[in-house]
Amino acid sequence: MQICCLDLEGVLLPEIWIAVAEHFHNDDLRLTTRDISDYDQLMQHRLKVLRKNRIRLADIQGVIAGMQPLPGAKAFLDDLRAHFPVVVLLSDTYYEFAMPLIRKLGNPTLLCNWLTVSRTGYISGYVLRQPDGKRKAVKAFKGIGFGVVAAGDSYNDLSMLRTADRGVLFNPPDAIVKRYPAFPVARDYPTLGRLLKQ
Ligand SMILES: [Mg+2]
Repeated sequence: MQICCLDLEGVLLPEIWIAVAEHFHNDDLRLTTRDISDYDQLMQHRLKVLRKNRIRLADIQGVIAGMQPLPGAKAFLDDLRAHFPVVVLLSDTYYEFAMPLIRKLGNPTLLCNWLTVSRTGYISGYVLRQPDGKRKAVKAFKGIGFGVVAAGDSYNDLSMLRTADRGVLFNPPDAIVKRYPAFPVARDYPTLGRLLKQ
């Protein structure tokens, strides 16, 4: 019996930070782990930029409220949830950001992180549930007797994909495809569904 684990942003949703950066016309918020590889450094940078520009959590949530899942994502997820007994979304995002979009996806199970917020409504920090949480979730599911198939789009998914019994890349950057040719690659939902269900 297999559990299906999916990354969220880049697989079912657009990148939230990119949408926020575009909304506020702020290129400082566009940086990702590809620009600053240390996640804590990247987050501290983002929090500083938000505060400097007086952008509160509620402002970001307002932007996210206007976002939609990627075209076809909900139907794709519905199909997977009908096929696998358990589908879990494993993400590095925060519940405070993701929940409105999770509702638009039909309330699938999401394991991610959370934010701390100051009394004035600014994001003051974040709580990483555990380091390398995606990989550890897959390992834990295997530890309670399930097989695991997984899909993700980026560097932060590689350890999860390696730990799964089958890992699939979805619309990854070319550099990842070149460097990690062992992973099958899907560029659309029908192909991804087929590779996960194999
Ligand atoms: Mg992603």
